[in-house]
Amino acid sequence: MSLAARSAAQQDAALRILQKTYGYDHFRGEQAEIISHVTGGGNAFVLMPTGGGKSLCYQIPSLLREGVGVIISPLIALMQNQVDALKELGIRAAAINSTMTGGSIVQTKEAILRGELDLVYVAPERLLMDDFLGLLDEAPVALFAIDEAHCVSQWGHDFRPHYKQLSLLAERYPSIPRIALTATADAPTRRDILECLGLKEGRTFIAGFDRPNIHYSIVVKDNARQQVLSFIRDNHAEDSGIVYCLSRKTVEETAMWLCNEGFRALPYHAGMPGDLRARHQEIFLKEEKVIMVATIAFGMGIDKPDVRFVAHMNIPKNIEAYYQETGRAGRDGLPSNALMVYGAQDAAMQRNFIEESNAPDQQKRIEHQKLNALLGLCEAASCRRQVILDYFGDACAPCGNCDTCQNPPQTFDGTVVAQKALSCIYRTGQRFGVNYLIDVLMGKEDDARINQNGHDKISTFGIGKDFAKSEWQGVFRQLVALNLIAPDAEHGGLAMTPQGQAFLKEKKTLALRRHEGRGRKKALRKEAARAAFGENEADHALFAALKEKRMELARTQGVPPYYIFADKTLRDMVLMKPDSMDSMALVHGIGERKLEKYGRIFLEIIAENV
Ligand code: ADP
Ligand code: ZN
Repeated sequence: MSLAARSAAQQDAALRILQKTYGYDHFRGEQAEIISHVTGGGNAFVLMPTGGGKSLCYQIPSLLREGVGVIISPLIALMQNQVDALKELGIRAAAINSTMTGGSIVQTKEAILRGELDLVYVAPERLLMDDFLGLLDEAPVALFAIDEAHCVSQWGHDFRPHYKQLSLLAERYPSIPRIALTATADAPTRRDILECLGLKEGRTFIAGFDRPNIHYSIVVKDNARQQVLSFIRDNHAEDSGIVYCLSRKTVEETAMWLCNEGFRALPYHAGMPGDLRARHQEIFLKEEKVIMVATIAFGMGIDKPDVRFVAHMNIPKNIEAYYQETGRAGRDGLPSNALMVYGAQDAAMQRNFIEESNAPDQQKRIEHQKLNALLGLCEAASCRRQVILDYFGDACAPCGNCDTCQNPPQTFDGTVVAQKALSCIYRTGQRFGVNYLIDVLMGKEDDARINQNGHDKISTFGIGKDFAKSEWQGVFRQLVALNLIAPDAEHGGLAMTPQGQAFLKEKKTLALRRHEGRGRKKALRKEAARAAFGENEADHALFAALKEKRMELARTQGVPPYYIFADKTLRDMVLMKPDSMDSMALVHGIGERKLEKYGRIFLEIIAENV
């Protein structure tokens, strides 16, 4: 067979697996290309956003090639879940890690030697053990997939020394294809990955970063708890989601408070005992309507596809972190919401974290710049998605699915107010914080500190009375976001940046965003089901009945409901109302195995409810 003919045959085989085993119609983005390249023996580096569909890129080549696909992942806690989900599809998968018994490890190793496994998940420290490498020398290996590949880099945000030693794969097994995958990697991290894993000769696939089904909304902090509460009540009363907090203490408090408000909320942070953390993660994965309240310690590798919302009670570290954290919503492609509550104090706190870290100065400067970019996003008057994608080097038109697109903020000529703010900073010696400066601008009488400093005598005293305090706060936030002024990290005092000086000197003009008053709440996207079925009560009832059956099956098998069927599959059933096994087979997400296992059960529910 010619090379071209062979590769066409391989592509057909890949598509058949996608349809029969996974129950999906077509490949997404570059999946087909990547699968074909790796199946043909090529090395690859895949950079794709969370939810983009990375797993298929190594799973299908593992099925098509001879031998076992070795998947290297740092996330031991999630391996068993991944294996269970694959078994549901009829794929022969296993995991080997420190939580398993010696007996089951021996069994798995024997199965590998006999060529009876399609996929095996291992942690890097296990892979690097002599006996495991010895096993791989003997056994047929289809490929090595290095998941969360950014862990090889000291530049990445999650460096793991064992990952670095994976460089031996290229030396010891030069003829076995390697595929490295990650959702986050800036330029230096990418270079490290290519270097360490010997992928320079391979192909790099960088997928577009857009996640069009996620709605972005960033609101100014007024009362963060109330803001998050009404966001959840209005949009997500029936859903699972994640609420991110900055500290362990606020995680505990917020979880307790959400429980008091009638939700099922669980805390998750690095200070909790490991088994409790694992239990909470398990509940979040396996049950519905659970809210995980967490620090950023939670989330890496969580592949729960039906997380419907991610709320930030504080600003995250930078745009990369924000995109990764919000990216955990809506991996199934259904409408999902990201809400961030943002206040000026948060920014000061993040500055402190940076300063107090023991990173070298140059790294600190980079972190400060990244934080500035995030503040720019928060204060943006244009489409949020445009700002985010622009940051990653992608362009897009205004998206129509973010707060600023749907509700364009008003802008005003802020030249004069900016001048007033800057000269007030200048005249008071560039060392006071926002609240003091606003008091001076608003001409606060009888203020002991102001009088003592003699600032009631300066020319900027009382020149800002035409603005309310909250409006001034908005102005100062934007001046920080625009990098005309910058807080001194130690005391939070504001000083002019070189750009700020140039702005004053060159008499530039400036458009600022007008912040609306408080209390303007708007329902965002309604539940996915509502979008799909409108007000059709019968369809809603059928959807609920299907979900109930799914939950019942999930409970008896001890797996998360979405292992049985994704929300999208149930939604498709409601829209298509299949009445035979043949029509059931056409539903999104139903492959041969699931049709056989669950087809009749769900046909019955549909017949009863139509
Ligand atoms: P990632 O690892 O990139 O975050 P996953 O591989 O977990 O993403 O895929 C996200 C979700 O999309 C999963 O539920 C997966 O089954 C689904 N998916 C992947 N590829 C396709 C496809 N071609 N068609 C439909 N759904 C897909
Ligand atoms: Zn937009």
